[in-house]
Amino acid sequence: ILSTFKEGEDNINVVVRVRPLNNREARSGDETVIQFPGNGQILCESGSGQKPRQFSYNVVFEPAATQEDVLQFSGVKRLIEMSLEGFRCTAFCYGQTGSGKTHTLTGPPGLFGKKMAPYSDQHGLVFRSFLYLFQLIKERPEKHFVLKASYLEIYNEKVIDLLNPGSLRKPLAVRWSKKARGFFVENLFTVDCEELDDLLAVLEEGMRNRSMGSHHMNENSSRSHTILSVHITSEQPAENGVFISRSGKINFVDLAGSEMTKKTRSEGKTLEEANNINKSLMVLGYCIASLSDRKRKTNHIPYRDSKLTKLLADSLAGNGVTLMIACISPARFNLAETVNTLRYAARAKKI
Ligand code: ADP
Ligand code: MG
Repeated sequence: ILSTFKEGEDNINVVVRVRPLNNREARSGDETVIQFPGNGQILCESGSGQKPRQFSYNVVFEPAATQEDVLQFSGVKRLIEMSLEGFRCTAFCYGQTGSGKTHTLTGPPGLFGKKMAPYSDQHGLVFRSFLYLFQLIKERPEKHFVLKASYLEIYNEKVIDLLNPGSLRKPLAVRWSKKARGFFVENLFTVDCEELDDLLAVLEEGMRNRSMGSHHMNENSSRSHTILSVHITSEQPAENGVFISRSGKINFVDLAGSEMTKKTRSEGKTLEEANNINKSLMVLGYCIASLSDRKRKTNHIPYRDSKLTKLLADSLAGNGVTLMIACISPARFNLAETVNTLRYAARAKKI
């Protein structure tokens, strides 16, 4: 159900998750164009009788892989461990609409009720990461941890606070400051999270506001990026009454559907949206490529060209650690977009 090329210790790890054929695809007789030769590789048909294309990644998750498999083997646990040690980390899902990004990160809608749903095998990576985070904190009683969480959406280059629906009418500004050690969102709600339930409440509230907000703005959620961030500060007593303080962060990013980059027939507002998505995903690609190749550091990296990369800059540069989860459909119907995603992911990391 999964194959590994190598356990990543690098700044950037790229994994691919292939979702199962859905009922509609299966009913219409669509078939899978993806094969799994093992060793972190994917073979993808290239049409017109040519040889299938081969791609390599750190890890490949086959359709039967579970949500728990993604937690255990994607490398996200290492990101969580490093965020506790003061590193800035990002896990993001890339892929066309319907490829399983939101499923992978948060699971299907309706998992969270008024009372927190019991542990379900459908819960996504964010939920599972939060459990793991608190498990690690309990294992380190000698340290004092302070957690703060925020949840935002970038729609058409406007930043909306998913914990403050008022920002729908008045989007927030992105600024740079030395004190914040980089870019930050002005007036963004950050919630103190003492317990697991506090973090889960942020997740639930943000998800609810996302679907309400998209209704309000007549927006399609596949056209926005969301960033859920957990800031982790730790203090540990050292000798002579001194404290060692560290400040790390982990972002979970659900990107806009990558197919927008190809749809050129759209007009008006949609074209503006498409251009913005186009640009932010392209710039993100550049930033990641430079992460995976430190020797090319002399190249200018255009972080400032999109809100998305401004807000992720600290985890894409310096000592940041990034996990890319490329999501694809196995169906022939989606072949063109699937190849785009596999290429984008392969460029992010030359293995
Ligand atoms: P995206 O966020 O990329 O647009 P979704 O996560 O909403 O895609 O997935 C589209 C549909 O496919 C949803 O109904 C989702 O529940 C289903 N799906 C996606 N990935 C899986 C998976 N690994 N197993 C089962 N169903 C999945
Ligand atoms: Mg989605």
